[in-house]
Amino acid sequence: MKLTSLIAGNPVRGREVLEVFNPYDGSRVGTVRMATHDDLDTAVAVACEFTETPTRFARAEILEKTRLALESQREKFARLITAEAGLALRETRYEVGRTLDVLRFAAMEALRDDGQIFSGDISAQGKARKIFTTREPLRCAGAITPFNHPLNQIAHKIAPAIAAGTPIVLKPSEKTPLTALKFAELLYAAGLPSRMLSVLLGPTSEIAEPLVRHTDVDVLAFTGSEAIGKRIATIAGYKKLVLELGGNDPLIVLNDADLELAVTLAAEGSFRNSGQRCTAVKRILVEEKVAPEFTKRLVAKTKEYVCGDPTDEKTRVGTVISESAALQLESVLQDAVAAGAKVLCGGKRRGAQFEPTVITKVPRECRMVVTESFGPLAPIITVRDLDDALALANSTAYGLSSAIATTNLNHALKAIKTLRCGTVNVNEVPGFRVECSPFGGIKDSGLGVKEGVIEAIKAYSFVKTFSLPW
Ligand code: NAP
Repeated sequence: MKLTSLIAGNPVRGREVLEVFNPYDGSRVGTVRMATHDDLDTAVAVACEFTETPTRFARAEILEKTRLALESQREKFARLITAEAGLALRETRYEVGRTLDVLRFAAMEALRDDGQIFSGDISAQGKARKIFTTREPLRCAGAITPFNHPLNQIAHKIAPAIAAGTPIVLKPSEKTPLTALKFAELLYAAGLPSRMLSVLLGPTSEIAEPLVRHTDVDVLAFTGSEAIGKRIATIAGYKKLVLELGGNDPLIVLNDADLELAVTLAAEGSFRNSGQRCTAVKRILVEEKVAPEFTKRLVAKTKEYVCGDPTDEKTRVGTVISESAALQLESVLQDAVAAGAKVLCGGKRRGAQFEPTVITKVPRECRMVVTESFGPLAPIITVRDLDDALALANSTAYGLSSAIATTNLNHALKAIKTLRCGTVNVNEVPGFRVECSPFGGIKDSGLGVKEGVIEAIKAYSFVKTFSLPW
């Protein structure tokens, strides 16, 4: 597959090519012609000059037509994501389904006017006037996305921007650019004015950082690691920032939990998408009394997560994104073992493949507990009681999402009140959401500005207030 970076639907002229390899077998999946700093400037200028914002109806139609086109090519997109990301087909088919939802909700929201009306005569200082609000597009949005949900991540940037009527310049991950460019083709074919979307790949110094710094970019939406997110915050200058960064999400399992459910949540939360979800379960905090039985059952459950060829229907865990990412997981695991942790199952690496791994007796201060490890690791840490669990859950720098397994409503309510993070899910994995619900973290996981289709539309637009005599 030979693709090229696109300025408003047109191929760039550069000669440098980015090669994309399949993390499972090392085969070349495709190439992308890269853009330059000049191309980036052109893309932003073209976006800013665009003034023929489609009507709400037309925006909804574009999003709906794109959804129907994606629906008819579900399997093709799932296989493309599997080829460039190494994720099992089970996961990539699921991801395409989520993207269909993003498009559906964005089309619905494009039709909805959230304008407000206030009477001007409701105070002693007031007058007989009415005050109205209307939402208007920004000049240009910039978006930078990670590798781990290569289709859904970009849909979460592009679809709300279209719904808001704001042109967007996207820089997808260099590890998974093919899915992004094929998705852009669907949007143009569905009638998106080409000047509303450019998709550029190229070196960080040519594309990503100039996009972040560009003074004509009104909003910069970034999803990725904490380190890059914080760098963006220091160089972006005067613009709106939406930062969706890393996580270290806990699953708390109390003595009163439905144990079978807790085990399922732990396995699904830790191993889905090869553990490469910002909201994957990264720490399992289990009350002492129930820990032995929970651990035994989780080890048995983990054996159901077949790790192998991502295109094999039996496979549930494909590769992580690269061999170097798998080596990093190996090193995190070795550190934990050196500090006294015990591997109960999994733990082996073959190339970019890392087996689903259950680890027990994990010291609270080791790297696996304190930082984000992006892979299928399930570290179990025993806790004395709910208070101990909540303190430990809150002890890391991150604050993205969390979950608690309990049958006691008071325990659930205490967790909801006490956990310092963007989401608390009771008897569900931390990653549960619908694509239009508010999503995003605090602390090192983000600035508290939420995404999800409805919130993202707000980020990609501004509210104009006007008043009339009445
Ligand atoms: P990453 O290394 O931070 O890269 C993310 C994007 O930033 C890529 O497109 C990357 O481009 C680009 N980039 C690299 N250096 C940059 C710079 N100096 N300025 C601007 N952009 C730059 O993240 P990743 O490894 O792809 O993704 C995994 C991370 O994303 C994890 O930490 C995960 O938790 C997080 N994540 C968060 C959420 C959320 O909603 N909170 C969702 C998904 C993932 P290149 O590809 O060209 O390097």
